[in-house]
Amino acid sequence: MKAIRRFSVRPVLPASIAPLGDLAMNLRWSWHPPLRDIFESIDPERWLSVGADPVAMLSATPVEELDALAADEGFVARVAEAEQGLERYLAEDRWYQQWASEQGEDGAPAAIAYFSPEYGIAAALPQYSGGLGILAGDHLKAASDIGVPIVGVGLFYKTGYFRQSLNHDGWQTETYPVLDPDGLPLSLLREEDGTASVVVIDLPGGRELRAQVWRAQVGRVPLLLLDSDIPGNDDGARAVTERLYGGGGEQRLQQEMLLGIGGVRALRLWSRLTGAPTPDVYHSNEGHAGFLAVERISELVTGEGLSFDAALEAVRAATVFTTHTPVPAGIDRFERRLIEIYFGGDLAPAGVPIDSLLELGKETYEGGDSSMFNMAVLGLRIAQRANGVSKLHGVVSRDMFDGLFPGFDADEVPITSITNGVHGPTWVDRKVYEMARRHSDITDLDSRESWEAMAEIPRDEVWATKRELRQQLVTEARARVRASWIERGASPAELGWTNEILDPDVLTIGFARRVPTYKRLTLMLSDPARLKKLLLDPERPVQIVIAGKSHPADETGKQLIQQMVKFTDDPEVRHRIAFLPNYDIAMAQHLYPGCDVWLNNPLRPFEASGTSGMKAALNGALNLSILDGWWDEWFDGNNGWAIPTADGVEDPDRRDDIEANALYDLIENQVAPRFYDVDDAKLPQNWLAMVMHTVSTLGPKVRASRMVREYTERLYVPAARSGWALRDGDFAGARDLAAYKSKVRAGWDQVHVDHVESSGVGDSPEIGETLHVGAYVSLGALSPDDVEVQVAHGRTNHRGDDLHDVTTLALEHTETYEQGRHKFAGDLKLKTSGAFGYTVRVLPKHPGLASPASLGLVANA
Ligand SMILES: *Cc1c(COP(=O)(O)O)cnc(C)c1O
Repeated sequence: MKAIRRFSVRPVLPASIAPLGDLAMNLRWSWHPPLRDIFESIDPERWLSVGADPVAMLSATPVEELDALAADEGFVARVAEAEQGLERYLAEDRWYQQWASEQGEDGAPAAIAYFSPEYGIAAALPQYSGGLGILAGDHLKAASDIGVPIVGVGLFYKTGYFRQSLNHDGWQTETYPVLDPDGLPLSLLREEDGTASVVVIDLPGGRELRAQVWRAQVGRVPLLLLDSDIPGNDDGARAVTERLYGGGGEQRLQQEMLLGIGGVRALRLWSRLTGAPTPDVYHSNEGHAGFLAVERISELVTGEGLSFDAALEAVRAATVFTTHTPVPAGIDRFERRLIEIYFGGDLAPAGVPIDSLLELGKETYEGGDSSMFNMAVLGLRIAQRANGVSKLHGVVSRDMFDGLFPGFDADEVPITSITNGVHGPTWVDRKVYEMARRHSDITDLDSRESWEAMAEIPRDEVWATKRELRQQLVTEARARVRASWIERGASPAELGWTNEILDPDVLTIGFARRVPTYKRLTLMLSDPARLKKLLLDPERPVQIVIAGKSHPADETGKQLIQQMVKFTDDPEVRHRIAFLPNYDIAMAQHLYPGCDVWLNNPLRPFEASGTSGMKAALNGALNLSILDGWWDEWFDGNNGWAIPTADGVEDPDRRDDIEANALYDLIENQVAPRFYDVDDAKLPQNWLAMVMHTVSTLGPKVRASRMVREYTERLYVPAARSGWALRDGDFAGARDLAAYKSKVRAGWDQVHVDHVESSGVGDSPEIGETLHVGAYVSLGALSPDDVEVQVAHGRTNHRGDDLHDVTTLALEHTETYEQGRHKFAGDLKLKTSGAFGYTVRVLPKHPGLASPASLGLVANA
């Protein structure tokens, strides 16, 4: 084999069409079709052959053609108009600017740093494996659309994730096409003298991990991607950013150090080189970027002379952590020993003693393993504000991390939830938008109003559009199945059948996702005979399009794929069920719109949110799903179907059987009959009613711009304000909070509720009566101002051992006795009837605490 050295030469564009270069480099084209149209119009066939990628398109266009375009007045005018449009998009005030201007003196953050290990922005920039990355991409795009000043931070993986194909046996094989950053919409951060800017991290053994920084521009949002494949690194260091989620323990740790520590350094470079404001808030999307706190603490200790504890408070106040993992086994952990090697001895970052760092990642809860360093625990300890990604996942997360807050009920664990969303302009098929535009004068196609207005579109038109979308998917699927069979060793001559698979008039069910076990790819195969019957039903057939990648190291996942592929290979059913290899953004954009039903059957409650069903819904598909993640929250009985879960059933096989049968029953008795029940005009009115209802009621909710607004209002802005409060006056607030916490921690074992007395209501109290509560408490060395003594009251069960719908009433300090004893008292008005219970407890109180549970300290009566 020849060792071919490959690099891309960017074309020099003639002056009159030079803006094409900027239009190609800003990824806004990935969600703004008119921009793509310009590139496509150069040569539609070439556009397809370069994978609808503007940078590749310009490289592939011969110089003579570019010269001809430069002389074509019409084309030049379109380019100029597009450039002005982009400039306007980048500069004009959006929701955030309006909102920020109303905040007055309270202020709004000037920049928010968003850290994520993966980003799914466009097929042309394959830096994602699945949902987490797509979500991050949608987050940046929506932030751009509504003007939230985010700057993204991530890694540049030379081979991205992997490309999936199948061998003749239906077994997943992986290839890792090497990406050339010069052929991608990326530009290198450079010093003023033109040399590449570099961040350096010290590694054990005197080694260094160096990285250069690529910038992608996602509309208004810059995205900084660190790349260690540079001269000056040894082979090991060069390989750190080779693959997304490749390699094990130590390489993973180096990746995460580069993301967290290197990421903060990249942000500092970015500010120094461009004058961009220093971020007011840092958001870690999942736990992988937790080391960002180490770097920021070290900066504050060395730069501002803070103690470790005060620096930690300043950092915590301005950090947001989002957890996505509903199972302990899914959490990123490192052996403590490894952390000691990378962050101990001479390598300890200035001001961050190794013991303090280890303490931050320690599993201090029951059943925790003291030899492990846990990145989710780190995330919760470095971030004053944390969230899960759907309401149900919030509940699951609070339960999961309850052990970090002993003495508190799970529902008081300070983890809130913000339900995920999807970026409409990326995921809604153009045909759907065009249909909407024909019927309303709405210009912002991603607004709440535009989705509500979808309900007005005539049903026959919706149905006709849906058929076109199905046809589009059928065409795409045929080409993909054929290409896959050629890779699997078939000859074109024996593949005539692939031109006949699937049917644009048959009820189409989609199922695509990564293939971890909990997603249960093969649930539908529980009873193969029954599935066949559904597929081949002469009156009401269904067809199923399936896709999904298994992590390369996950043999079980690959077996599931093989089992599925073998089923789809069967000549008896292969015209009704197809597995499409290499699920990615490009495929997804065809798949969701072409489906009538989006199937999701995870093992509840392991799907933190899920987003593919949202994308399908925006394109007029009905969800058929286990009540998990977002669907648990927004299923309303008319927007699809809930597959009943056998939650309590212990035997997993039996549980699968029960749920699979429920799935078959639903398809056979409800889904298919409704789809095929047409009126005289051949319209399935009842089906269309559900589609219209879905689009107009779910549409407004599932938007990523709704999600980013929630992050902004509920987490980013409060975090920025907490951060400023602790920073003011030379970090007086941070020092004070650290001193307070240390005092309270040291003195807490002296804090007790000694005695509670009550009066004012008789044996059978009535609504409106007032209960006087007096609490005698010991506070040891703490003062009455350091604590809140409160009555927690609510409904109780018949045993009186649990409280629900708890509200609290803070009692007033009324008397001080000797030896640290105090009385607190207050009046509680009885407002609800029924079984009522209350208890008295003492909690830490300080304006710098975002939640009274933050410290995990409480003294219960
Ligand atoms: C949306 C999307 C996902 C995530 O979907 P889930 O429902 O969270 O499993 C994964 N991969 C691609 C390509 C996607 O577009």
